[in-house]
Amino acid sequence: MPTELEQVAAEAATCTRCRLHQGRTQVVFGDGDPDADLMFVGEAPGFHEDKQGKPFVGPSGQLLNRLLAGIGLRREDVYICNVIKSRPPGNRDPQPDEIAACRGWLDAQVRLVDPKVVVTLGNFAAKTLLETTAGISRLRGRTYPFQGRVLLPTFHPAAALHATSSRVGPSPLQGMEDDFQVLAKLLAESRPAPAAGPGAGPPGTAGPGPEPRPSTPGARVPASLAAQHARPRRRYLAGALEDAEQLGLF
Ligand code: URA
Repeated sequence: MPTELEQVAAEAATCTRCRLHQGRTQVVFGDGDPDADLMFVGEAPGFHEDKQGKPFVGPSGQLLNRLLAGIGLRREDVYICNVIKSRPPGNRDPQPDEIAACRGWLDAQVRLVDPKVVVTLGNFAAKTLLETTAGISRLRGRTYPFQGRVLLPTFHPAAALHATSSRVGPSPLQGMEDDFQVLAKLLAESRPAPAAGPGAGPPGTAGPGPEPRPSTPGARVPASLAAQHARPRRRYLAGALEDAEQLGLF
């Protein structure tokens, strides 16, 4: 007997609600533990994902795996999906009507997987779920209430792979490393008392508008928080740079 999530996935597999069905190889619905405490939401499938039918299986996925390993998690421990389930042609930005057409699938995934923490990867997923025009650089560094859970925005792994050394300020990779340390703390805190985790608001409190509120007044992540977690943080850096070199980015 298929689970409700499997039934929804089967339904999504034949979705023609937007024009993207015309160019895709297959729907990329989601992957991982259907009961995960942690859900990642990216933008849309790319070339590799469209071919393999799973999210984040290319270079961005490899970096995501390394960041997860840095906090003691494996890909199989989490659930991974995207806002958009079909690859946009040429990896162009998804359009508003495509986002709206796909939204029901994502909402079903959040409801059925029922994670405690949702991590958005990149500008697009953060803006979509937080219903804001603010960019990821402004949004990250704090948590937000999202459908009765905690949402933590971080950079997209592709941004960490593509950033050049001339960039001013902390690199996206450094930012992601810091955010994953915060994530480890959120998950640890959510386990003994899931309903009382920091930032967990009542369902539907993610307010629309350009300035999403932090989940609690004290929810801004202190810059020193990452330093409180003494896990190895650099072991995936070399691999990330290798990926970027493979992509011809450096
Ligand atoms: N980028 C995304 O946003 N999602 C994927 O699945 C792959 C790359």
